[in-house]
Amino acid sequence: MTRRISLLFLSLLVSVAPPALGQANGKLQIHFMDVGQGDGAVLISPLGETAMFDDGNVKDCSKPMAYLQTIGISKVDYHIASHYHSDHIGCAPGVFGKFPLQKAALDRGGSYNSKVFQDYVTAVGSKRQTATEGEIFTLDAASPNPVTIQIVALNGNGITTTNENDLSVVALVRFGKFRAEISGDLSGYHTGNYEDIETGVASKIGQIEVYKVHHHCSQYSTNNSWITTIQPKIGIVSAGVGNTYGHPTRECLEQLHNAGVKLYWTEQGQGEPPDPTMDIVAGTVVVQIAAGATTFTATYGNKTDTYPVWDSSGTPATAGLKYAWSKNSGVYHYAECRTVKSIKPENLERANTPPTGKTLHQLCPLQ
Ligand SMILES: [Zn+2]
Ligand SMILES: [Zn+2]
Repeated sequence: MTRRISLLFLSLLVSVAPPALGQANGKLQIHFMDVGQGDGAVLISPLGETAMFDDGNVKDCSKPMAYLQTIGISKVDYHIASHYHSDHIGCAPGVFGKFPLQKAALDRGGSYNSKVFQDYVTAVGSKRQTATEGEIFTLDAASPNPVTIQIVALNGNGITTTNENDLSVVALVRFGKFRAEISGDLSGYHTGNYEDIETGVASKIGQIEVYKVHHHCSQYSTNNSWITTIQPKIGIVSAGVGNTYGHPTRECLEQLHNAGVKLYWTEQGQGEPPDPTMDIVAGTVVVQIAAGATTFTATYGNKTDTYPVWDSSGTPATAGLKYAWSKNSGVYHYAECRTVKSIKPENLERANTPPTGKTLHQLCPLQ
């Protein structure tokens, strides 16, 4: 075949072959995979773009590999590594060997002294990028209903720490009124080697629908200020049978139970047993929401539960927070003020109490 004919043949193949959409179904899907003791989730946008939030534990990569194959993933557009522990980035070589990385692998930058980290760096190659606070990337960018993923914080969120868990990248997924927060092993208590990172991050997140419970529901995550600020409708606890850490812990589960948060566990773990009124040992959990919908679903096995999004009444998702402002401005606003909409997300801060050193914008046009 001449080169020209083979090119023609190739272009015919490309135009005839179905687009590589994974299993796009017109909804936002987030698959919180059962990866044993570790984290691994894959987001599929309504039009079939994919983003992974961690990729599983180096000790058990057959789990994410098999699941990604089952759901028909053919490629991964973005990968966000929360941090460099082997239960979060351990399957990067296998995953990207089979489902090639297309656009970018975002992480906290820097390095970590382990073979698993070196293998991750090799696997993501030139696609590796250091995430920056406030950075937003968009899936289905040309669609009227895009999905955005914002890097809300990383590397301790201004608190000096070298604890790898404390350094976790905080990602916020938005799709219409729906929000989900995913942040690896972020810490919430100043104890032992850990710092309280959650409290400072909470006001940057506000109310959300889905919380990927930090640090496999260890006793060092999910503090009171975090949970009362983000008020998740559901939580996902990713912990493995037989883990040696006692995850999930009673302390963490109580915080969530007391706040009325229904929890989906990927496995029973090796800590506190599930409370049948609040905890579902579900295996892989798939969260889905259609564009413009006021409910989202959580599917596991052959069961599906439905939950309302926070602002199904038409009030803003951040209705619980009374004030908002740009971190670069000397004024602050009532949260309903229309001006708030024009503040760049990376500069936007919210709280229930006015900020110090700023003056109230008195004549706010309301939304
Ligand atoms: Zn972990
Ligand atoms: Zn960790």
